[in-house]
Amino acid sequence: MRFNQSQVNLPTPTNQNPNRQVDKDELWEEDPEYDKVITGFVIFGVVVCASLYYYLKSQPKINTLLPNEFTDNQVTKVQQVNHDTWLYQVYSQSGIEEFDVPFHVVIKDDTCQIGRQYTPISRTSSHLTFLIKLYKDGSLSRMFRELKVGDVVSMRGPILTMPAYVKNSCKEIGMVCAGTGITPMYQLIKKILQDPVDQTKITLFYQNKTVADILLKAELDHLRQTYPDQLKIVYSVDHGYADRSGYVDLKALKILPKECVLVCGPDGFVGAVAGRMGENNTQGPVGGFLKELGYTSTQVYKL
Ligand SMILES: Cc1cc2nc3c(=O)[nH]c(=O)nc-3n(C[C@H](O)[C@H](O)[C@H](O)COP(=O)(O)OP(=O)(O)OC[C@H]3O[C@@H](n4cnc5c(N)ncnc54)[C@H](O)[C@@H]3O)c2cc1C
Repeated sequence: MRFNQSQVNLPTPTNQNPNRQVDKDELWEEDPEYDKVITGFVIFGVVVCASLYYYLKSQPKINTLLPNEFTDNQVTKVQQVNHDTWLYQVYSQSGIEEFDVPFHVVIKDDTCQIGRQYTPISRTSSHLTFLIKLYKDGSLSRMFRELKVGDVVSMRGPILTMPAYVKNSCKEIGMVCAGTGITPMYQLIKKILQDPVDQTKITLFYQNKTVADILLKAELDHLRQTYPDQLKIVYSVDHGYADRSGYVDLKALKILPKECVLVCGPDGFVGAVAGRMGENNTQGPVGGFLKELGYTSTQVYKL
């Protein structure tokens, strides 16, 4: 059977109950309380989201190394290495697998807002390890002396200490350093030796006051044994016996290759070996023993 509209009298908008239609319209268009509830919910949602965003943004990023922002990083190991130098390991993650070398970070004492540069001697995806010499009246030394496992240090990095090292760019590199000046050299030495493609030969001249002051000696000796054709080391001490005894002098530096020499250490040492740094950490002219030996500014870099 087929139906048509006239036979069954289906409801149309015009024949629906007029009262019912009016009720529905009133509910949507004329209930001011309902509008207020909806508006209230929307405002509440926006305020909650904005507050959450600004809260999360303002939270310090813990244990993450960032170049342009100081972050709090937890100390995981503190160990005395000799009479004035300590090893500090810090939990610090970075999205970057490999940093260019040599790099350092700035560590800041938050109580007085003083920052100093420090060169990690090792870096894994989660930890940085530093060798830090503590001075009796040093500003940051004071902070480091108080540090315990579980404390946090405020730091920023990585920052390149010199133009990034390019493998095989020199056939032979000379390194002249003293005291904690070994730290950037050690970064570079490891980078070169652990890369089978890099054939660069290294001659390291490492000056210290006494044998007890030589840092990373076991690690350096191990590298020298493992790569005897690539790494030559001369340990030199002011007092006592090592590969060489006495202050650094012109004759001692004749073992260095001509092509490329890096120098790092206390100001007086760098000045004697290669001439003082210039204003605002610029290289300054080559001076000292290296100048006397005929080196020019394209062959010498002071760190
Ligand atoms: C790129 C870079 C990387 C560095 N990496 C390391 C590192 O890996 N490990 C490390 O221990 N240091 C490193 N240093 C040195 C470090 O940044 C600080 O200068 C040092 O720790 C002293 O800081 P302080 O605040 O304790 O002493 P300050 O308050 O700066 O000085 C206090 C006293 O110590 C003397 N003093 C400071 N520095 C030296 C020095 N180098 N030699 C002799 N006397 C000094 C000053 O003359 C002064 O009398 C690096 C420096 C640079 C520029």
